[in-house]
Amino acid sequence: MSYLIDNIKYSKELALRLLCAEGPDLTELYKAADRIRYEHMGDEVHIRGIIEFSNICANNCLYCGIRAGNGNIGRYALSAGEIFEVASAMADSRQMTVVLQSGESTVFGDGEIGSIISRIKKETPLAVTLSAGNRPRETYRYWQECGMDRYLLRFETSDPGLFGRLRPGSSFEERLHCLGLLQELGVQTGSGFMIGLPGETLHTLADNILLCRALDLDMIGIGPFIPHPDTPIGDEKNAYGDQPEIFFKALAVLRIFNPDAHIPATTAYDALFPGKGRDLALKRGANVFMPNNTPARYRKDYFLYPGKPSVDGSGEESANSVITRIRALGRKIGKGPGHSIKQRR
Ligand code: SF4
Repeated sequence: MSYLIDNIKYSKELALRLLCAEGPDLTELYKAADRIRYEHMGDEVHIRGIIEFSNICANNCLYCGIRAGNGNIGRYALSAGEIFEVASAMADSRQMTVVLQSGESTVFGDGEIGSIISRIKKETPLAVTLSAGNRPRETYRYWQECGMDRYLLRFETSDPGLFGRLRPGSSFEERLHCLGLLQELGVQTGSGFMIGLPGETLHTLADNILLCRALDLDMIGIGPFIPHPDTPIGDEKNAYGDQPEIFFKALAVLRIFNPDAHIPATTAYDALFPGKGRDLALKRGANVFMPNNTPARYRKDYFLYPGKPSVDGSGEESANSVITRIRALGRKIGKGPGHSIKQRR
């Protein structure tokens, strides 16, 4: 599969061919992804600590465990003081970015979120990533002025019809518009997708990867669709059924098509491959690890999908265990904030 290395033509045909790799070709695919990761991103794994600061969401995405219509979870919102307290401890454990993640709601006003960002930026050495959904340009701009470095907004699927069905009340075009606003402002922008949504095909998956490339993203997060029992599609199966290797193939092809993007080994890989999913992801193209720093008492209510690691607040995500895990792979722990390596700003 040496054609992977020389004269890569980033076509849909190539993406499809690689997604179908088997046997020795599959081994070559993983090797190529790992080598490209090494050549472009180095051997460092950046540790970015997530704080799920609120599970309140006004939306009703059909696949999501914290959708507004799920009455089987308790709702919470951390106080600004709690968020700061957790963030301020992160640098001591080599987590140089805090990722503030919540549902889409107005429980926190723009100003409140802005004050939290400002305080973290003033009083800690951390980079700040925010993930709080579709917002108007002026809100993104205001948070950027407060010090926000990055924003995550997954498009989830490149199929506009599927997007509309799974995310009632919002549109694919609106999502792309928001991603465009962020990029225009010069905010480091992350997006990504789910693998195996009911109704998708291998063509959708190839298009998802190509869309990531077309958007020229700074960060790309992907993960398998895992049905949640308390959702309208809880009885559906992942579109790739009993072929879990596709999740790693997708990651490897994503790396080959997006050599300069930060790509996390997302927690959903551990949900499907307990104790080793994220390690395998790091060997097949990923270069970021995102431990859950949400205070233990809230984790069970940020129940996005079954099998999510550390939902019970166990020590599996402790900073030391993450560092040990990364070093066991022969990789280094990232120093500094791990900003985008793209030189366009
Ligand atoms: S996916 Fe996001 S926007 Fe949709 S219901 Fe879940 S938290 Fe809300």
